Amino acid sequence: MKLAARVDRVPPSMTLAISAKAKAMQAEGIDVCSFSAGEPDFPTPAHVVEAAKTALDNGKTRYGPAAGEPELREAIARKLQKENNLDYQAENTIVTNGGKYSLFNLMQTLIEEGDEVIIPSPYWLSYPEMVKLAGGTPVLVDTSMENGYKITPEQLEKAITPQSKLFVLNSPSNPTGAVYSPEEIRALADVILADDKLLVVSDEIYEKILYGDAKHLSIGAVNPQMLERTITSNGFAKSHSMTGWRVGYAAAPVEIIKAMTKIQGHSTSNVCTFAQYGAIAALDSSQDCVAEMVEAFAKRRTYIYEAVDAIPKLSCFKPDGAFYLYVDISQTGMGSLEFCEKLLETKHVAAIPGVAFGTDNCIRFSYATGMPTIEEGVRRLAEFVDSLK
Ligand code: GLU
Repeated sequence: MKLAARVDRVPPSMTLAISAKAKAMQAEGIDVCSFSAGEPDFPTPAHVVEAAKTALDNGKTRYGPAAGEPELREAIARKLQKENNLDYQAENTIVTNGGKYSLFNLMQTLIEEGDEVIIPSPYWLSYPEMVKLAGGTPVLVDTSMENGYKITPEQLEKAITPQSKLFVLNSPSNPTGAVYSPEEIRALADVILADDKLLVVSDEIYEKILYGDAKHLSIGAVNPQMLERTITSNGFAKSHSMTGWRVGYAAAPVEIIKAMTKIQGHSTSNVCTFAQYGAIAALDSSQDCVAEMVEAFAKRRTYIYEAVDAIPKLSCFKPDGAFYLYVDISQTGMGSLEFCEKLLETKHVAAIPGVAFGTDNCIRFSYATGMPTIEEGVRRLAEFVDSLK
């Protein structure tokens, strides 16, 4: 059988593959400490579940508009105005199958052969692949632990060519947990606006998960010119522990939303109708449930950062947001794939090799998992590193 060439252009998603492997091992009765996919361990808040159940009882089981239920689009626009200071109306929004599909759809909408997309590295592993699947060229810009894993305005300026179409900004970042300060966001906006056409997609899926003094500024809120150049992507998976619901969204100038709706009309159609009613409840009710989860993540972050950083030969980047710990393993002399494979085989600890995020000298731990797992997993990790001597 001859498959389409595009299939060979991308590897399988390693976050999904390793978390599936960890879950399969657990199903076999193996005691695996999984730090693989970024999936909060909390149940979806009860009022969200109730709203979806009521929607089912009320017959919200039919096709809806491809761009999403009007009530949800209104709620999203209100949220973006109130919380993010983004001047969007319902017509500027589209509900998508998870935040992931908002990004995939956007690449299909904007990118074609010859277009370059600037992506700071390390990056969430699906960004470059989505660009390639759309026929474009990812342009990776290396950042380092020393500069806080953040692209500088000078680096961005240097990466821009006449072919540059889009810049991918992800703050708080997956996989590093880096958060750009409002000043840093404004400085990047200056560089984008100095170009005559560059657009930015701001992946804000982790916006609520911040620690200490870290602050989130949506780049589209910098000024009205910037809003015209911005596509804001977000979703409910991480903030409201709704990973399996597959409800995300994008907000952008109407022309882009109309085009994305066209792509959606020929691909996914509407997102699961009754799931959208859960999302309305998530937006329109108290956000205390989010704050409670963030408080738990903050405790786990302090613990895992200090405990892993204390292990000889490992050095950690202290995350200001999201729920990932990015760990430099260079001193072990191993590549990230070999390290993660052996760690899983011998100690039953699952982590994601940094090579998937563009840096083979690191591995990623998701600490969106319970404290007992974190404590036991770190203990086994220390044993593993000790055994390498
Ligand atoms: N975004 C999460 C992660 O990086 C979920 C898995 C995925 O979609 O990649 O672990």
